Amino acid sequence: MPLSDFPRYPLTFGPSPVHPLDRLSAHLGGPRIWAKREDCSSGLAYGGNKVRKLEYLVPDAIASGADTLVSIGGVQSNHTRQVAAVAAHLGMQAVLVQERWVDWPDSVNDRVGNILLSRVMGAEVRLDASGFDIGFRDSWRQAIEDVERRGGTPYAIPAGASDHRLGGLGFAGWAHEVAAQEAELGVFFDTIVVCTVTGSTHAGMIAGFADLEAAGGRRRTVLGIDASATLAQTREQVERIARRTAALIGVPRDLREDEITVLEGWAGDEYGIPVDSTLRAIRLVGQLEGVILDPVYEGKSMAGLIDLVRTGRIEPGSNILYAHLGGQPALNAYSALFTQTVR
Ligand code: PLP
Repeated sequence: MPLSDFPRYPLTFGPSPVHPLDRLSAHLGGPRIWAKREDCSSGLAYGGNKVRKLEYLVPDAIASGADTLVSIGGVQSNHTRQVAAVAAHLGMQAVLVQERWVDWPDSVNDRVGNILLSRVMGAEVRLDASGFDIGFRDSWRQAIEDVERRGGTPYAIPAGASDHRLGGLGFAGWAHEVAAQEAELGVFFDTIVVCTVTGSTHAGMIAGFADLEAAGGRRRTVLGIDASATLAQTREQVERIARRTAALIGVPRDLREDEITVLEGWAGDEYGIPVDSTLRAIRLVGQLEGVILDPVYEGKSMAGLIDLVRTGRIEPGSNILYAHLGGQPALNAYSALFTQTVR
């Protein structure tokens, strides 16, 4: 059925803002770079990309009679913080399994940033020693069972709200929103750059742009920049969710292989550990634009964008749309990296 027929519970202010990054564009030379800002499109706990995905899961949760949202992520998960915010907003409970996805030495890691905000919003936070994995976990199943055992009705949301039947719809909607904003701005974004880890942000975009293309829209390139450092698993998940979402919203053809591009080179060796290119990208965009990126996701995708422009892989005449997916609260957990101004 068409995307517009799926129930959607509004959690955002409306379309996320789009604006040019002119000083960054001038610095790099060549393409004009714009940003679309999921980090400031909702009033719920600093927003981010999961809020848009949850707009399509919430009607399903309400219809199921749920009173508790149960989800999983790392200790500094942006996703679980957004689940906590949405639960509070709906008058539901949240149970969050926070795994040790990142072995980061900062001693405040489990006390500041996202986890602090989840605690403020009343979520039950369960620390778990397991390492990074975007798949299904026993600790999460256990949390669901515990909610049932104490008489609650859980609604299960997988990591990143990704591997869920409705997980790709939010960013399929994003693609349609981009097309409407292009018409207003008089610009065509031929290249989209997006960070990808659990996959449904990127996958939803692929399905949404395929939907637009099927309705006569121009072809464009969506470049996913891997920040998981487990490329094969992330690519497989992006492809699976993209195909599932395309079928769900009635895209009348199979997706082409060249529509599913996940690029490696900027994740470093491990999820959640920034590398030199991450820190350079964060400082460059902070100092040229006053726009804040995080060391886990957006700093890595911006490092990818910068290299792709510098090497000419993204052509000089392009209009790039950089999807800013949020994530800034995690910066607090990485304070040791920023004790001095470095220009
Ligand atoms: N950017 C930020 C700030 C995130 O919180 C996430 C979540 O994982 C991503 C990018 C990646 O999105 P996805 O997990 O849908 O691939």
